[in-house]
Amino acid sequence: MHDLIIVGSGPAGNTAALVASRLGIRALIIDKSRHPRAKPCGGGLTPKTIALSRLLGLDLSEVIEHECDEVVTVTQAGSFAMRFKEPMIRVSRRERLDEFMFNEAVNNGVEYVNDEVLKVKETQDKVEVIGRNSIYEAKWVIGADGAPSRVGRSIGITPKSSALALMNIASGELSINTGDACILDFTRIKWGYAWLFPLSHGYYDVGLGSALKGRYSDLLLNYIGELGLKPGRIMGHLIPYKPPTVVSVGRIMLTGDALGLADPVTGEGIFQAMLSGALAALSLRYSNPTERYNMLMANYLRDNKHALMVAYVVYGVDSLFLSRFLGVTGFSRTGAVSIIEKVTGGKLTYRDAIKDIVKSIVHISNLISSRT
Ligand SMILES: Cc1cc2nc3c(=O)[nH]c(=O)nc-3n(C[C@H](O)[C@H](O)[C@H](O)COP(=O)(O)OP(=O)(O)OC[C@H]3O[C@@H](n4cnc5c(N)ncnc54)[C@H](O)[C@@H]3O)c2cc1C
Repeated sequence: MHDLIIVGSGPAGNTAALVASRLGIRALIIDKSRHPRAKPCGGGLTPKTIALSRLLGLDLSEVIEHECDEVVTVTQAGSFAMRFKEPMIRVSRRERLDEFMFNEAVNNGVEYVNDEVLKVKETQDKVEVIGRNSIYEAKWVIGADGAPSRVGRSIGITPKSSALALMNIASGELSINTGDACILDFTRIKWGYAWLFPLSHGYYDVGLGSALKGRYSDLLLNYIGELGLKPGRIMGHLIPYKPPTVVSVGRIMLTGDALGLADPVTGEGIFQAMLSGALAALSLRYSNPTERYNMLMANYLRDNKHALMVAYVVYGVDSLFLSRFLGVTGFSRTGAVSIIEKVTGGKLTYRDAIKDIVKSIVHISNLISSRT
């Protein structure tokens, strides 16, 4: 019997495995795929993801293909180029990132089995993990099997809402003059955005996602065509962004997309997967791991509610008002850049970001009314 079984070898599972191995916990990863395997993703890594990786002793530089200090944001009221002090988005290919992290865990002594988990069943002092090929036993289980999660379904914990996102690796020469900036285009799709993230050697990760599910392949193909690029294979997947209040049951803890931890504003999920994986493994050091994990996750879950509010304003309430506000007031070059830097750097919660935005709106309104 293992101390810990981790179901899934994405960023959540690999981080949990790495932390567990460092703590001397005998861990087994079970994944239905073998690395390198495809995973639909923009591969965009924010500054807080890099900071967390460094904290974990992971140097991701060998899997980063491009760094965007400049992000061109396209809105209903025009395009704004935002320049950041530290690269706002570092672009990786997910198959390489996941394989790299998996190798780090295995090199640290974590075991791996290639099997598809069908369900998990807790008995008094252990958990049975029922795979297609075999049954495995452990004292603790971390569900890191993404969306939709078999582990989550087995214990009745599932995310409350998901977005849908499509991507492909396109190639060729860009027909627009944005240099090597990343592009976020909020005019292409309702309740979401399209992105272009440059990779190396003339390749680009191009995709779009929305909280409203639909058939978006043609929309993506049109966008790729307008950019002057040749499309690659289009792949899509859910991005669950609204977690339940319970994150674990008995000896089973859920992490990453299995729990619905992606950021509702940006769709970012790699950082949240890594953080929850690390915290779940760390909790095993304590006498009541699941209680500890619930406690460690509470802050994040609370701030997710504030992130949802920001998402409603950005995508729902009146995006034209927001775009005009950003453009006309110059807030896109100053206040917005600073807030985005702090949020993506992990230095500001969404709760505090809301306070800063409200303060800025009041300040700018006062300036405008004093001039008129
Ligand atoms: C199109 C798209 C673009 C995105 N772009 C970005 C981005 O640019 N930046 C960002 O931060 N986030 C992005 N995300 C979100 C991000 O991809 C996810 O939030 C992240 O991958 C979650 O990691 P995870 O480890 O929880 O799950 P996953 O990465 O999904 O890993 C789950 C693992 O579990 C395995 N598995 C699944 N079911 C089973 C089973 N039954 N038995 C055994 N193994 C199983 C899978 O093979 C996989 O290896 C994007 C998502 C999509 C769909």
